[in-house]
Amino acid sequence: MSLKKMRNIGIMAHIDAGKTTTTERILYYTGKSHRMGEVDDGAATMDWMEQEQNRGITITAAATTCYWNDFQINIIDTPGHVDFTAEVERSLRVLDGAIAIFCAVGGVEPQSETVWRQADKYHVPRIGYINKMDRVGSDFFNVLDEIQEKLGGNPVPMNIPIGSENNFEGIIDIINKKELRWDKDSSGSVIVESEIEGTRTGLYEYWKENLLDKVSSFSEEITDLYLTGEEVPIDVLKSAIRKATIEGKILPVFTGASLKNVGVQPLLDAVIDYLPAPDDVVPAIGHHIKTDKETSVPCKKEGQSLGLVFKIQSDKDAGTYHFVRIYSGTFKNGSSIVNIGKGKKERINRILRMHSNKSDNIDSLSAGDIGVFIGLKFSQTGDTLGLDSFPILLEKMDFPVPVISIAIEPKTISDRDRLKEVLDILSKEDPTFSVNENEETGQLVISGMGELHLDVLVTRIIDDFKVEANIGNPQVSYRESITQEIIHVEKFQKVIAGNENRAELTIKVVPSKRGAGNSLNTEAIRKDIPKEILEAITSGIEGSFNAGICFGYPIVDVEVTVLSINYSETFSTPFAFEAASVMGFDEACKKAAPILLEPIMTVDIMTPKEYVGDVISQVTMRGGIVESLESRTSIEHIKAHSPLVKMFGYSTSLRSSTQGRGTFSMEFSHFAKKN
Ligand code: GDP
Repeated sequence: MSLKKMRNIGIMAHIDAGKTTTTERILYYTGKSHRMGEVDDGAATMDWMEQEQNRGITITAAATTCYWNDFQINIIDTPGHVDFTAEVERSLRVLDGAIAIFCAVGGVEPQSETVWRQADKYHVPRIGYINKMDRVGSDFFNVLDEIQEKLGGNPVPMNIPIGSENNFEGIIDIINKKELRWDKDSSGSVIVESEIEGTRTGLYEYWKENLLDKVSSFSEEITDLYLTGEEVPIDVLKSAIRKATIEGKILPVFTGASLKNVGVQPLLDAVIDYLPAPDDVVPAIGHHIKTDKETSVPCKKEGQSLGLVFKIQSDKDAGTYHFVRIYSGTFKNGSSIVNIGKGKKERINRILRMHSNKSDNIDSLSAGDIGVFIGLKFSQTGDTLGLDSFPILLEKMDFPVPVISIAIEPKTISDRDRLKEVLDILSKEDPTFSVNENEETGQLVISGMGELHLDVLVTRIIDDFKVEANIGNPQVSYRESITQEIIHVEKFQKVIAGNENRAELTIKVVPSKRGAGNSLNTEAIRKDIPKEILEAITSGIEGSFNAGICFGYPIVDVEVTVLSINYSETFSTPFAFEAASVMGFDEACKKAAPILLEPIMTVDIMTPKEYVGDVISQVTMRGGIVESLESRTSIEHIKAHSPLVKMFGYSTSLRSSTQGRGTFSMEFSHFAKKN
């Protein structure tokens, strides 16, 4: 498949806007999905896990390939819930363009804003789709205004709805100057075209004018034709729209009602016409593993092999699926490759192309494409795959920190090993999920991004992996840090099995800026000591970052420098230096006025106006600080910062104070000193 005939797209939407239904229809019309599943009866093809079907939300970023007019479209599923930010960011990195779905009734909701901002961050070109035009209260033009006002987008309608709510009949296609209606009997497969009629001619002219006006600011050719009053040829218009869309200057907007099988095919045409091919976007940036020099990685099949693992899913039968996006070169079935960052050899046993309801074995996967490798052992999400001859690391992905923890305990002792195995699989799949074992009590604690995130994982452990376990209450995952600079000397001396073990080191700990992370500097001692001793010191100190100072929470924002060591060739052992580093670092931190840090969340609340007073006082009582208050037509949008610990159970209290009409979303913002 030539690169120009390939599209890697995501579908992003607020929960309930109709992402699953629209994806389903796309798979149906592209002929790969043989029957139309409905979300409501839980038969959605795209939803992999049973649990997702029960919840009616899509969590995993599975990639699915379909074909439209000889073009290959890889759809990378993007979750809409903020608890899954990492999944969203991960999928946004590997796609080249996206369809942003809005509900014609709900418009732009806080979560659409979050996802939109993430897509801006990765410069993802988008087309918009205003769904659910058949619903009571649908208002196409209001959603257009909201996209402009709340998201700062530049929406340009390509379709205008004919009627709305119960009277929604079809669309006016502005580019082709036609009315389109969908035939119910063929489940919308047959589209009836007709000339634009009656008063709708005026509507068409107004929006055609708007389209030309918007696009002419980016195309001299169209400006010239427009000014001289000449008709702009369709292909000229389309290529100008394509260019402006790829540059992120406009958002072409389409409309329909996916559930009623209206509007989906023009959206597919638009994916081909306006969203970029893999080589239409800025090439990926890589870093040379030794020199750290930046290199651009052009999307070329004949280039050096380079791919990025963006998702791992375990399958009971086939083992582990590594979803990979290839940025350069070609990877062949059965070949040996290298995990560049880890320096480990890997073997590709099979390459799969995933369709909605089956997978095909393929021989190779080339630049621009997305598929699944089977057989990799060491590679995790975010890792770069390639060859020794081209040791380039593709940009690392940044993942937000886990802020909520729960204790998990197997129901029987015999389940303990199995539980640990399952937790290991899950943490490999999901970099925002972590597992810790309390050394003293042996208790297993799992941490994640939010209550829903952990809930989903726990359900997988119990239902999918069939491990019986008791679950504790959610707890905030705190951090520890220091507030003073301290220099500490640690001496270690012990006779073990008749041999003397000695070590002495001087270390300095300094508090660094909030969010800076931890660092370890061993520059001063590197020259004169054996490699094993240096490794023992590094592992002792870096291992202690996770062990806490007073309460066992991970340590953050501490700068550690090893100033000097006392090394004796006869008596010093790596063991002694590791022990001295662990104890010395712990002592130094204890003397450096340690503090406890708590996660502060950004809370976005939407409430009908009449409840705004109650909602604000509730947030304030929970220690929240209101940052902004914004009035919309019938709704207030409140943005606040609040300590996570005070936000447990907030959904229940918001519901009761707004008679069930208020909604909110919450996302980690930063760590702050706990009062
Ligand atoms: P997702 O959460 O974004 O994946 O949304 P779903 O596709 O699960 O849709 C949410 C709900 O809206 C389901 O009950 C769908 O049947 C319904 N829905 C989706 N599209 C439409 C539409 O075009 N019209 C109407 N009336 N309902 C729709």
